[in-house]
Amino acid sequence: MTDPREQLRRYLEQRRELGERELVLDHLSVEEALRIVAGAGPTAAKKPDEPVAVRQSDPSASDDWRAALRAAGAAPGREVEQPPVQKGIPASTPEVGGQLAPAGIVVGTTSRDLFGAGGPSLDSLEVLEKAIATCTRCPLYATAKNPVPGEGNPSADFMLVGEAPGATEDETGRPFVGQAGQLLEKILAAIKFSREDVFIVNVLKHRPPGNRNPLPQEVSACSPYLVRQIELIRPKVLVALGTFAAQTLLDTKLSIGKLRGQIHRYYGVPLIVTYHPAALLRNPAWKRPTWEDVQLARRILDRALSGA
Ligand code: URA
Repeated sequence: MTDPREQLRRYLEQRRELGERELVLDHLSVEEALRIVAGAGPTAAKKPDEPVAVRQSDPSASDDWRAALRAAGAAPGREVEQPPVQKGIPASTPEVGGQLAPAGIVVGTTSRDLFGAGGPSLDSLEVLEKAIATCTRCPLYATAKNPVPGEGNPSADFMLVGEAPGATEDETGRPFVGQAGQLLEKILAAIKFSREDVFIVNVLKHRPPGNRNPLPQEVSACSPYLVRQIELIRPKVLVALGTFAAQTLLDTKLSIGKLRGQIHRYYGVPLIVTYHPAALLRNPAWKRPTWEDVQLARRILDRALSGA
């Protein structure tokens, strides 16, 4: 069986070849990890008959390789120098005082009437939650086990929008609590947030059977809840997680590759697009750009809070 340190070394070299400088979610530079691995004494290596500690295909799916790193001397949660956020992003963003990212798509004006004059008066998150719980505006309520309205700090400045509940979310009635949710918590931790600090929602509030893609009629039936949530929470920054949330919020068919790296506006609120955590689980090479995206979102928030 291959030495786990050797596997880890090969994995790190691959990351380096892909242009990654940090192990994004672990606050450890690739160079430093390689140094640790190279310099670790024989005690750090596992015995040949012990289970392989490193998974090359998807390190985020397991803690084992992190354990191997720590056993080899890496301090958990250590801070490293952060790369410039502007890498690859042209300067000039008039709306946020410049220098962050170019302005992207603008949706709507700075205010709107979401439900029209005769619409329901969903004037609190609690009322909204009850309306979602009894919603029959599309057929998904009939197959879902639980509604998943969203959760978090009702006064959050930072709000994240995913696609639709998966199996674990459907079971629990809570957004992003499965594998993708665990990764999302790490992404949030990288910008010094816990899930209690932010508000997390999905475009759809009921699970599409078998996690199929949401249908356009489901989106149009459900999206008034989302826009009302945004209106009630009044975040200072929105993050769209994945193509579906981004295309829905920005009313566009542009690919995520084209939507990333810009500061969009959703009814006046700065909106950053990044990869969906589930996509990161399949493609760890996207962790680096995701890290840049959320850092950008965090900087926009910090600027807004500082009044700059
Ligand atoms: N994927 C999503 O888009 N939302 C969830 O809540 C879970 C997984």
